[in-house]
Amino acid sequence: MKADVTRPLTGAGRVYLVGAGPGDPELLTLRAVRLLQQADVVVYDHLVSSAVLDFVSPTAERIYAGKRRNEHTMRQEQINLLLVKLAGKGKQVVRLKGGDPFIFGRGGEELEALAKQGIAFEVVPGVTAASGVASYAGIPLTHRDYAQSCLFVTGHLKDGTADLDWPSLVRLRQTVVIYMGLGGLAEICHQMMLHGASPELPIAVVQDGSIATQKVVVGTLSNMSERVARENLKSPCLTIIGEVVKLHDALAWFKPAITLTTQ
Ligand code: SAH
Repeated sequence: MKADVTRPLTGAGRVYLVGAGPGDPELLTLRAVRLLQQADVVVYDHLVSSAVLDFVSPTAERIYAGKRRNEHTMRQEQINLLLVKLAGKGKQVVRLKGGDPFIFGRGGEELEALAKQGIAFEVVPGVTAASGVASYAGIPLTHRDYAQSCLFVTGHLKDGTADLDWPSLVRLRQTVVIYMGLGGLAEICHQMMLHGASPELPIAVVQDGSIATQKVVVGTLSNMSERVARENLKSPCLTIIGEVVKLHDALAWFKPAITLTTQ
């Protein structure tokens, strides 16, 4: 017997917190596609790619909630209120976020607001940037020869000051993935070296992972900030630090028309 994957939407208003993955629409889950096709309203962030938005039903209302760094089109409280209001009117609302909504996505905060108001919700996980972008860059996050653990951190430095737990970042045989770290990259490399990491430790910065404009820049802790500046990389960029980056050369399989790999 075929499994029932359709799970029809309920009559009452509900919010579906859906992960859109890193950009390539082929990485959407079946559940995500189905919900995008059935929703009354889709509230989406700037990280959601236009190719993913192509799956939204033509009859659905689309609301852009912004959230580019320093350009918060809607404040978080406004987004929370909007979701409560729409679901309160009985709408089927998809709250669409880049990657996975529970990884640096403030998904938890939005659900807390809904729970407080007694609004029903569901969470649909997505492929988070760490795994999606690393896959498309040909960089396995763990590998028996190089890394037995992997750490996800945000490099978004409040007030420009770094408050990361540096000793935990420089452990051997570990891969560190930094979300939102482009602005603080020079400081991050500097601090890691200060805390004992080798200046030769490989590092990759991947812009627009999994879509046609993907760019991978590879270097070391000591030369990376200069390389990134030279390549004029733009957000979103994911930083991967560790010996596994060495595998990129041999394993880079995704070749969009304008891929540029700089050594
Ligand atoms: N919830 C998201 C992360 C949101 S934070 C997730 O699970 O992926 C936003 C950061 O994610 C960006 O600053 C960047 O570091 C990273 N990111 C998301 N999509 C990306 C992509 N396609 N390419 C490179 N980095 C990406």
